[in-house]
Formats: sequence, C-alpha cells, structure tokens
Amino acid sequence: MLTYYFCLLMRPISPIIDYFLRIKRLFWADNSVRILNYHSISSGIKGKRLQHVAVSPEVFSSQMEFLARHRFNIVDLDTLLDWIRNRQPVPPRTLILTFDDGYEDNFTKAFPILNRHSFRAVFSIITDYIDKDSPFPWISGRLSEKKGDDSEGMPLKRWQLLALSHSGMTIASHTCHHNSLSRMDQEKVTEELSESRKELEEILGAKIRYFTFPYGSWGDFNDRDKKLVQSGGYKAALSTKAGHNTLGSDLYELRRIPVFDMDGVSNFKRKVMGVYDVTGVVQRLGFELRRLTKRRK
Ligand SMILES: [Zn+2]
Repeated sequence: MLTYYFCLLMRPISPIIDYFLRIKRLFWADNSVRILNYHSISSGIKGKRLQHVAVSPEVFSSQMEFLARHRFNIVDLDTLLDWIRNRQPVPPRTLILTFDDGYEDNFTKAFPILNRHSFRAVFSIITDYIDKDSPFPWISGRLSEKKGDDSEGMPLKRWQLLALSHSGMTIASHTCHHNSLSRMDQEKVTEELSESRKELEEILGAKIRYFTFPYGSWGDFNDRDKKLVQSGGYKAALSTKAGHNTLGSDLYELRRIPVFDMDGVSNFKRKVMGVYDVTGVVQRLGFELRRLTKRRK
C-alpha cells in the first residue's frame, strides 16, 4: 500500500525525472530488466486498501498495446537466467510480465490480451485457493456491484492453470497460504515451499522453478528464507522490492515495478522506462522507520 501512495505522490514530478533519464540514455545504455507486477485484471475490485489490486481490462489492454507498438522485448524468467549465466548483454527495453496470487481473471481477461501480442508472463499461484468457488478472503464483500461479473475476485481453476502452462506461460509458487515467511519458523517455511511446489507439479505435470515471496517487501522475508527457497530447488525468486534488475542482481530477490489502474498509459510509459525505479528507496525508508518506532515502544 505504501508503494501505491508513493507512486501517487510521484506522479507530478515523474515528467521531470523522465526528462533527465532520457538525457542519461543518450550517453549510457540502459542494460536493465524491469519486471512488471500485476494482480487482478478486473473492473469490479474497488474500495479502501484495494486500489493496488486491480487494473481494468481496458487499461491493461492499452498498456500491452503500447508495449507491442513500441517493440518492447517481453521475455520470461528462463531467458533472464540464461543471460545472467552466460553474462550476455540485455537488449534495450526488456521486460518481464508477472501476475500474483492466481486470480481467475488472469485467465479470462489477461490471457487473451497477452495472446493477441504473443507475450509470455509469469503467474504466481497461492495453491490453497485453486478451484475454490468463493472470492479470495481479502476481496470478499468488496466487489462493486455495478461493474463486477461472476469471475471477479475468484481464484483460478485447475484446468485454467493447465491451459496457461500448456500455452508456454510460467507458473510459479506463491506458497500455500500467503503468509509472510519471516514470521514463520523454519519448519513451516520449508513446508510452505515444498507443499505448494508439489501441488503445482502434480496439477501441471511439469517442474516448478520459480517462487514469489508473499507480500515480498522489506521485513516480509530474510536471508534464511532466501536460502530455504534456494535449497528447496527453486532457481530464482521474485520480491515486491521496487527497482530494476541487472546481470549482477540477486536471483533470490528479483525486484519488480508495481502497475496500478491509475497509471493508465501515460504513467505506465514512465514506469517501463525506469522513472519509478527509485520507489524501492522509499519502501526501504518506510520499513526502517517502522522498525525504529516499534523498537522505541
Ligand atoms: Zn501475493
């Protein structure tokens, strides 16, 4: 949520940062990979503390249209790992698209739009909700009646997951229950990592190579958790710490840029060009401040 409000505050000054970055790119190539983070693609999920959750299908469609028109290079995590392993230069305008939690609208709304442009994406799934016939608990009772349809706020079904995987999309684990790993003991973290992976592998009949930390910002996971993810057989992990990634980035806390409905296309352009990479610094400051005030109490 803090990230959402910071992005809101940054909007008026983002054209100035954009201007300076354009000048910088004239002299230095931007060899970074930005990973965009979406959750639900729907119009009916509205309300207090839910502003960061949904991007409407219309806005999402125009954002993908923008990426296609400007020839952005949309790759998957396997490609990024190959580049890192081979120390291969990253082509300019490289992006990875990710969707967290496993909303059914990722299949009904986002998937057809992604297919239209032949874009691949990463879908991170909370396994305990697969096939449930009620909305995610944090969405329940907060759907707008006017705009909503039956699938809004609902989790993905097994057959939809299978269809996403068969079409070349990457399916990642996002644990079984979506709790902050840093608040659990080691045994419980290991269980969340292995059980979610086992269930996805059983459904898909394919190896699960990637993990996405629940909440995923400072304080939500630590070095112990990163080691457990690695020893649990995952090849890389996504966080929600904001920023870009380079060939030297830590593979077990890849950074992402959140996309919100309010971004539309005009602010989205700036996000994909790096104007909001700085958001990570503010997230970190917010975390340190919270830690300091807790210690004082
Ligand atoms: Zn999540």
